[in-house]
Amino acid sequence: MKCKDAENMIPLFLEDDLDTEDLREFMEHINKCEECKEELTIQFLVLEGLARLEAGNVFDLKSELELRMEEAVHALRVRESMQWFLYALDGLVVVAAVTLAALLITIG
Ligand SMILES: [Zn+2]
Repeated sequence: MKCKDAENMIPLFLEDDLDTEDLREFMEHINKCEECKEELTIQFLVLEGLARLEAGNVFDLKSELELRMEEAVHALRVRESMQWFLYALDGLVVVAAVTLAALLITIG
């Protein structure tokens, strides 16, 4: 099979429209020929991208990403406030210890 033949078959392959013999030869060529493999990849991405655009999946992907980013920001905030809380707790323990020591010294 020549590159020209393989290129002509790419749209048929993507639409699952090749008979067994053609498909076998096509796959053999694609596996050997980098140029045709690249051409197949490009045409697949274009076709898949258009299909997703028509189905509105691109927007779903975008909001999915936004949701994940919001969750990450929220998790980060929780972690940061937890850290602040722990620092505050540390401070309180020190203050309590000092107060207790002062109290004991005063009493003693
Ligand atoms: Zn080729």
